[in-house]
Amino acid sequence: MLLLAPPGAGKGTQGTALAEHFGVAHISSGDLLRAQISAGTEIGRQVSHFLSAGDLVPDPLMEVLLMTPVVEAARAGGYVLDGFPRTVAQSESAATIARELGVELQAVLFLAVPDDELMQRLIHRARGSDDSENTIRHRLEVYHRETAPLVASYRQRGLLREVDGSAAPAAVTAACLAAVADLPT
Ligand code: AMP
Repeated sequence: MLLLAPPGAGKGTQGTALAEHFGVAHISSGDLLRAQISAGTEIGRQVSHFLSAGDLVPDPLMEVLLMTPVVEAARAGGYVLDGFPRTVAQSESAATIARELGVELQAVLFLAVPDDELMQRLIHRARGSDDSENTIRHRLEVYHRETAPLVASYRQRGLLREVDGSAAPAAVTAACLAAVADLPT
């Protein structure tokens, strides 16, 4: 399963709940990147300025980072992939990787939250961090330009399950679980 959402929509929280529900791994591209940065690795050094600027990390780095956890999770029964793909090119490589691993894409969960609500949440979350309002705005622009087109594409292919992500986290979790209730656990 893929989890698609704008920044600030609650991907992390809902990704954890969905992975728990299905008993599979929750793989968050953002968490993997932040872990590399905190550990001070070479990859961490290469990616940190993209994260602080609100830009996307180049595809080759993302693929290096995701390959091992995705392969391991596929062997162990599946995964909820949160934060990847984020571009049309990434969605093509996600499909290729899944095909090679014999994994079938069962659903794409989309958390819909209006921009003004996202701005408020992200500004609130940024207090005490280096994120400026401009960076937050930029992150949303990048989402609309690069990632939002994937929503229409997955919808067209009948894979999209849309959930209103503007409610409180527990209500959104209930709606996410209801949206995938027909899938086997
Ligand atoms: P997230 O925690 O998913 O909001 O991701 C935080 C940041 O990590 C993003 O703003 C990007 O800079 C970077 N990032 C996460 N996932 C990807 C991805 N699939 N492709 C490129 N950059 C990513």
